[in-house]
Amino acid sequence: MGKTGFGERIKNFFGLGRPRDELFEDLSELLVEGDFGAAEAFKTVEALEADCKKNRITSPEEIRERLAVLLEAMLRAPALPDEDGGVILLLGVNGVGKTTSAAKLASYYASKGRRPILAAADTFRAAAVDQLKIHGERLSIRVVAHKQGGDPAAVIYDALEAVRAGGGDLVIADTAGRMHTKSALVEELRKIDRVAASKSEGYQKYLVLDSTTGRNALAQAEIFNDAVALDGVILTKYDSSARGGIAFSLAGSLGLPVVWLCDGEGYGDLHPFDPHAYAREFTGLE
Ligand code: GDP
Repeated sequence: MGKTGFGERIKNFFGLGRPRDELFEDLSELLVEGDFGAAEAFKTVEALEADCKKNRITSPEEIRERLAVLLEAMLRAPALPDEDGGVILLLGVNGVGKTTSAAKLASYYASKGRRPILAAADTFRAAAVDQLKIHGERLSIRVVAHKQGGDPAAVIYDALEAVRAGGGDLVIADTAGRMHTKSALVEELRKIDRVAASKSEGYQKYLVLDSTTGRNALAQAEIFNDAVALDGVILTKYDSSARGGIAFSLAGSLGLPVVWLCDGEGYGDLHPFDPHAYAREFTGLE
């Protein structure tokens, strides 16, 4: 996992010898700075305060330990899909790392003995299709693509047909990330959603979020989740300057689990999300 530096801040914060009531008050602010939504931050600190009172915990170090436990409990260990004939659909705005994540997932599943097929359902940008083809060549993984401007649902349909014909056992689909506020995109996503849901054996919809965008990521999650009920999130660029609180906000306010964490551009820089390690790193405990 990447080092975000925010854990250091939490660690230092608890080492400053503040009076207890100030500590709890200031902690909410610090969590907000760490990309927690305000409501989640207050709720978490309230629960922490009650927990410490009940268990007569007074030392800052012990309070930090309790915080890590509480934060971990907000997160869920990922359920990784393993259905044959399934689809993993990657959604998200441009630049968050969708295409790269599609390639990383394909590489991951291939390394587990699966036969993924990449579906270039971002038919909007020729560059995205080309990029996916390059990954496919490097990884020796088949890429199903249509011409630019084509119907993305048809690309997914064809990829699933290829699975049915024995050419693979899992479809990983990249989609277009034009501004999510455009109703046309929402309509397009719903159409893709219908095709994938009706034609596949198992189906997961992951939103790809750039963890360095902070709380704006939560707004993106709300919009995509409203359009097509999401199953989880892939957090990318955790190796950059991410503060990490977004994972708790996603869980707390939308009930959305982070499923994968990416901490680099390489194929191997994708890891099943580990709530324990994540919560401890966030609190500087590791
Ligand atoms: P898309 O527009 O959502 O498909 O985004 P891309 O997959 O093209 O990625 C955009 C940029 O982010 C590329 O330069 C990627 O190499 C980079 N990127 C993606 N994931 C990560 C990550 O986990 N860490 C870092 N440092 N860069 C990443």
